[in-house]
Amino acid sequence: MDQLIEGFRRFRESYWRENRELFEALTRGQAPRAMVIGCSDSRVDPQMIFGQEPGEIFVVRNIANLVPPFQASTDHHGTSAALEFAVRSLGVSHLIVLGHAHCGGIHALLQGPAGNPGDFVLPWMRIATAARERALAAAGGDIEAAQRLCEQEGVRLSLGNLMTFPWVKERVEDGRLALHGFYYDMDHGDLLVMDAQGRFRSVVAEGTGAPSCGCGSHGRHER
Ligand SMILES: [Zn+2]
Repeated sequence: MDQLIEGFRRFRESYWRENRELFEALTRGQAPRAMVIGCSDSRVDPQMIFGQEPGEIFVVRNIANLVPPFQASTDHHGTSAALEFAVRSLGVSHLIVLGHAHCGGIHALLQGPAGNPGDFVLPWMRIATAARERALAAAGGDIEAAQRLCEQEGVRLSLGNLMTFPWVKERVEDGRLALHGFYYDMDHGDLLVMDAQGRFRSVVAEGTGAPSCGCGSHGRHER
């Protein structure tokens, strides 16, 4: 815990002090333009990956960056509540589902449906059962490929589930809201963005002056 308190002291002495005006403005409210649905994984911090300042992106993180389907019930819908607040109260213009490589939730999903009553991870991961089936069918027994395919199918599935929320669908259809699928490839320090055809494309390979990771596999390719 001391590390966190020390970290806070450093934050206060440097970043907070240097950005007093920003933090003062943020006490009056927030107006983020985008919401990110990311994984809770400690290696995948949306604010850091996208280089954003406080107040710029509204974030919800859960196991495997999943969006559940719209369900009108009195259960405890944490992700749906965050989505509702971002879309209906804050009026964000963009919803981004951020998948990532080496996702532990997806790994557990691929292991199978085992689990004990009272467990929460596997019942939660059942949201992505269809993604699992599609990935296993496409991977043809290649476990590494299945993991990556399932991570990316999970993003596609979550984007589909977003459209089951009536107030998301309405705003997407009238142009007030745009949905995006991103995939953070931590092996290559790359970000893949889903194109109009639903394919993930590297922003590093397609940018100008793109840094090379030295893996020799870059070029205009999909992963
Ligand atoms: Zn994850």
